Amino acid sequence: MQSRHGAPALDNNVGWAPTHALAPGLHLVATPIGNLGDITLRALWVLRHCDRILCEDTRVTARLLARYGINTPLDPYHEHNAERVRPAILAALRGGATLALVSDAGTPLVSDPGYKLVRAALEENLPVSAAPGPSAALTALILSGLPPDTFLFVGFLPKRSAGRRRALAQWTTLAATLIFFEAPSRLAAALADMAELFGDRPAAVARELTKQHEEVRRGRLAALAEHYREAGAPKGEAVVIIGPPEGAAAIVSDAELDARLLALLARHSLRDAAVELAAETGIGRRTIYERGLALQRSGKR
Ligand code: SAM
Repeated sequence: MQSRHGAPALDNNVGWAPTHALAPGLHLVATPIGNLGDITLRALWVLRHCDRILCEDTRVTARLLARYGINTPLDPYHEHNAERVRPAILAALRGGATLALVSDAGTPLVSDPGYKLVRAALEENLPVSAAPGPSAALTALILSGLPPDTFLFVGFLPKRSAGRRRALAQWTTLAATLIFFEAPSRLAAALADMAELFGDRPAAVARELTKQHEEVRRGRLAALAEHYREAGAPKGEAVVIIGPPEGAAAIVSDAELDARLLALLARHSLRDAAVELAAETGIGRRTIYERGLALQRSGKR
């Protein structure tokens, strides 16, 4: 049985059935985010049968391959050599090579290298397929206890507070669950900025997912910020999930917020307007204050 992409498909009676050779092209292969058991059967099949594997760090991928007795040659493909090696990779694909792309962990391209390579391959109509699997963002989302129906994956935020706050300010009124990647050393500071800008929404911090010390800490943003401020930088990698605006805030669009703010500014100081509107909408006071400053700077008020 063969799927649309020429890859072996599930046979309802027999299970997983590789009955033919791996098709030429670029295969995007997800790898475990901690627990080596999370590699899929198809991922192993692709990694075993492709000509070469493009990977971020050959030492990391070599450990995974050794665990499964796979000897496919590895070539580095990472942010520092991607521009230089991409033409040769595309030439190999044009010549009918079968290449796999993996990152150190999880789904390639998602806050990891690969997007420009996929774009370039698609522009030349070269075949691209995926062997999906582990994803830190989706694993954290489904464990968070927060609404998974509409979500926005933001990825990494700027490292410094000013840039981080500017980035966060874009999403404060969005009616969606938000997913962020964050380094342990910046977790407490990022959560503090989030609490100020988003108000005290429900959130979760998911750490060490699929590993022995996996932990999902659920609570309000202010309490989570306080916990990590006191506890210090936790071990391992972390994902922060923030629930959508609650109650009245859920129905406030950016335009509505600006209109309400302008009306209040006609009668109140910016500080008082921010306090009143924060209580009314549940949006963070700091977010409203900074929006007010922007309105004042733009001359609307
Ligand atoms: N492409 C990967 C994926 O799909 O999972 C993500 C790569 S990104 C460079 C690394 C970030 O993913 C980390 O900083 C952390 O936010 C998150 N992450 C990766 N593995 C994790 C784990 N086991 N537990 C929690 N977060 C993890």
